[in-house]
Amino acid sequence: MNNVNRRDFLKISGSSLIGLTLGGVALSANAQEQVALDDPTAAALKYVHASEVEGQYCDNCQYIQGEEGKEWRPCAFFPGKVVNAKGWCAGWMKKAG
Ligand code: SF4
Repeated sequence: MNNVNRRDFLKISGSSLIGLTLGGVALSANAQEQVALDDPTAAALKYVHASEVEGQYCDNCQYIQGEEGKEWRPCAFFPGKVVNAKGWCAGWMKKAG
């Protein structure tokens, strides 16, 4: 490899690396992670993906966020994560209205 080619090569790999890094950040911001049952907050709140309490589900809790009708939705108690619409935790509070 002569000097010119080497410089071009470095330039190309440098910019691809930046592209990949930005792509990775964008991806993780969009694809929200489902709350793990062994997540410390989930464990403390006894969160489950399928509620065993009749009439109490994440999708009728006042802390649920995001789009109605989605299976996995954000919750104010778990920033950056999503909970199951049919899930439940000890923080459940009837949605107003
Ligand atoms: S606070 Fe608990 S019950 Fe309410 S939406 Fe979040 S995880 Fe579900």
